[in-house]
Amino acid sequence: MTLRQAVCLVGGRGTRLGALTDTMPKPLLSVGGRPFVEYLIHEARRFGLERLLLLAGHEAGKVLQAYANRRFGDLSVEVRVEDRPAGTAGALAVACDVLDDTFLLLNGDSFFDFNWLSLVPALASDDWTMHAALAQGVRGGRYGRVELDGNRISRFLPKGESDLPINAGIYLVRRRLLERIRSVPCSLENDVLPALAAEGVLLGRAAEGAFIDIGIPDDFERAQILLPTFLRRPAAFLDRDGVLNHDDNYVHRPDQMRWIEDAAAAVRWLNDAGYYVFVVTNQAGVARGYYGESEVRALHGWMQAELRRVGAHVDAFEYCPFHPEGSVEAYRRVSDLRKPGPGMLLKIRETWDIDAGASFMVGDRDIDMQAARAAGLPGHLFRGGSLLEFVRTLAPARRRIPVSG
Ligand SMILES: [Mg+2]
Repeated sequence: MTLRQAVCLVGGRGTRLGALTDTMPKPLLSVGGRPFVEYLIHEARRFGLERLLLLAGHEAGKVLQAYANRRFGDLSVEVRVEDRPAGTAGALAVACDVLDDTFLLLNGDSFFDFNWLSLVPALASDDWTMHAALAQGVRGGRYGRVELDGNRISRFLPKGESDLPINAGIYLVRRRLLERIRSVPCSLENDVLPALAAEGVLLGRAAEGAFIDIGIPDDFERAQILLPTFLRRPAAFLDRDGVLNHDDNYVHRPDQMRWIEDAAAAVRWLNDAGYYVFVVTNQAGVARGYYGESEVRALHGWMQAELRRVGAHVDAFEYCPFHPEGSVEAYRRVSDLRKPGPGMLLKIRETWDIDAGASFMVGDRDIDMQAARAAGLPGHLFRGGSLLEFVRTLAPARRRIPVSG
């Protein structure tokens, strides 16, 4: 099973924001200089989703105008409009013909800094219908609370201050949920989720992470400053050969790949801890004519698919195909991208919002350490063993402080 689709609810009226949402859907309001929904689009892209379906209602014309048939990198956006207010669950029924067997469902007015893919490994068992992300440590009385029994949600408690987690508005959904939506309007929060919990088919995964809901004026104002900071994350730059996989010389096909011990678990741990994860790898085999760039990219695609099965992912792979003594003329040159040059790290820092002060590089050779130093980052030399144990000594478990609401 590959998770390809996210579905985002952007149809609500947003009455608590008053005049702001009279002529604009709440998820399209500008927050920190861009429409709120584009923070979710940023996350959907980095988690490798291919399609985003926006379910529009109130002021749907604005959603169609801004997003219908747009692409953001590899993510394509579609818009579906309900013909009358169908409620948060009813909106799904309206779109039933375009939903995948399994998809992510996102509230269009809240943001939780959470590893979306950490919900995916639960697909190994078939005894649940929805799996909800829960934000742990959110203060304040305006949220309902969730009680867990193991990894299952046992019940929903009324709004109030509590140590219990809150529903963060991110769900992994099996399509059979639609069988429960027999009439519209139908509310996810009031009709569907409590019934699923009562039947024991609603999983929950609680995690710490910054959370904000733009539904009330105070938090909408706070989000203007806070939300952009949520996307500024520390980064772990990982060498590939000798760090993620054993360096068996010019590895370029999946059947040649031998993973380092706990490599996928290490990436997952960094994802859960709120780091961006980047792979930066010299691939002189391209310049030497041993294999082509398409094989490098295909291998990285295969690695990504393997990682996703355990809820992990790499935000971007950068490779350097050049070498000054290459036999393929197109690739025979000195390049600052090639480690010990810092070019690959700097290129990533240009396109991602990185908290450099808390970032680091892991490599198995001195050229990795030199590249890190040239990019102004600490480098850590990995000498084998469990990669998970190694990265745990480098990175605090959760760097982000949950935001109260
Ligand atoms: Mg190496």
